[in-house]
Amino acid sequence: MTYPVAHTQLLIDNEWCDGQRGDRLPTVDPSTEAVICEVAQGRAEDIDAAVTAAQQAFTQTWSVVEPRERSQWLYQLAQAIRVQVDSLATLETYDTGKPLSHARGEVLGAARYFEYYAGLADKIHGETIPIGNDYIDLTWVEPLGVTAHIVPWNAPLSMVARSLAPALATGNTAVVKPAEQTPLTALALGELVRSLDFPAGVYNVVNGFGHEAGAALSQHPGIHSLTFTGSVTTGRRVMQAAAAQIKSIVLELGGKSPQLVFPDADLDQAVAEVAKGIYSNTGQYCDAGSRLVIHESIKAPFLEKLLAHTQTLTLGKGIDDLDMGPLVSAEHWERVMGYIEKGQYEGATLLCGGDRPPHLERGYFLQPTIFDQVTPDMVIAQEEIFGPVLVVLTFQEEAEAVAIANNSVYGLGAGIFTRDIDRALRLTKQLQAGYVMVNEYFAGDIGAPFGGYKQSGIGRERGLVALQNYTQIKNVTLRIRQ
Ligand code: NAD
Repeated sequence: MTYPVAHTQLLIDNEWCDGQRGDRLPTVDPSTEAVICEVAQGRAEDIDAAVTAAQQAFTQTWSVVEPRERSQWLYQLAQAIRVQVDSLATLETYDTGKPLSHARGEVLGAARYFEYYAGLADKIHGETIPIGNDYIDLTWVEPLGVTAHIVPWNAPLSMVARSLAPALATGNTAVVKPAEQTPLTALALGELVRSLDFPAGVYNVVNGFGHEAGAALSQHPGIHSLTFTGSVTTGRRVMQAAAAQIKSIVLELGGKSPQLVFPDADLDQAVAEVAKGIYSNTGQYCDAGSRLVIHESIKAPFLEKLLAHTQTLTLGKGIDDLDMGPLVSAEHWERVMGYIEKGQYEGATLLCGGDRPPHLERGYFLQPTIFDQVTPDMVIAQEEIFGPVLVVLTFQEEAEAVAIANNSVYGLGAGIFTRDIDRALRLTKQLQAGYVMVNEYFAGDIGAPFGGYKQSGIGRERGLVALQNYTQIKNVTLRIRQ
């Protein structure tokens, strides 16, 4: 089949170009294993060209135009995304395997990021500080310069928009390095930027592998801020690169988020939310609720309902828009299967799933999987699997539930299911997580901060607080002659 792909090159200084060495890398449809297209493969020299373009754009146009003009460009970009929602969602679906309606929701979310931060572009200002009658003290809020955005494959356009929108709104320019598995929507966004006549060099995209293009970007001396979304292992490398030049950094990393279910919860609602928390995007969300922490007294009826619910889920090609698509790549499928074998080896009980669905011979599909009889020390209870694999842990006392939930190097999301408002509020304080949701998993919005405790990351994205990631404060003190 022919895939509807229009742009496969690098975008540097508003021009499409090949990488300087001229080689290309394939991007694969995980629903069929077919090669969608080959995209230009960027390396250090292409990163260098992109950073130079972004530096010029920063000094000559983007940081000096009126903030309301930046706001207008960002609104127009949001509008263009909305107009193109169907084609962008289709592209995202082919590239990632996610169900089409789900991709559509993420594309509209990307438009919302640009709208939200467009609205703020002309409302960022400093303050005056009373330091004494002989002085006027004031602050100017200034952009950082060229910002780098290294993004993963699980929600490609949404992850680009999340950090790009506040970076551009505050007057910075950007170089984006999409994941090598899923570059297509970041490139399609580039064509929208071009069509809207954004100043050249404001938004640059360099596809390529992490150890080449990604490493070159994080080490580049012309970059002033690094926003990295991905695994803890890579996050450490990016942080080391940032440390070498004292760059500002935001790290949005992995998770092993617990969903705590108490006996007084609405069980049907909790079943639906727990299933959504682990099976959405085939478990490939950083905040997937991958640990069910459930009171012993309700485990049996809960698991019976959860199994019944799981069996109703439909799996298939993203474009057919069923409940679950495939995992993103062959490599990732092997990785998740490795954890399933490990869980069985460790003595956990496989309640359902654990293999490829028999009716889907091609594509990187995996059945929704539940492990029971899991103990907190098992590898499958500790490490991020990043697939549709739920582990079940039990507790008797509330304090034990909190201890199990907090027994992790991660601290991204946490779900609480209870009708007891006191318990809910108590636990929101006790859980070590950047994002706590009560009686609904994945509740939240672009206006609310998102980020992790512990090894789940540094800094917060979304909301007003994200503006701080891309700005610095200059303090100015003036002496008044009396
Ligand atoms: P990854 O760390 O392998 O790759 C992420 C990005 O980093 C890719 O663009 C990759 O090319 C690049 N990269 C790889 N090596 C690099 C290097 N040496 N220097 C610079 N860049 C390099 O992660 P992944 O497998 O693509 O994504 C899955 C991970 O992302 C999971 O752990 C998931 O939890 C996490 N994630 C976190 C969030 C969040 O907001 N906290 C959101 C989405 C995904």
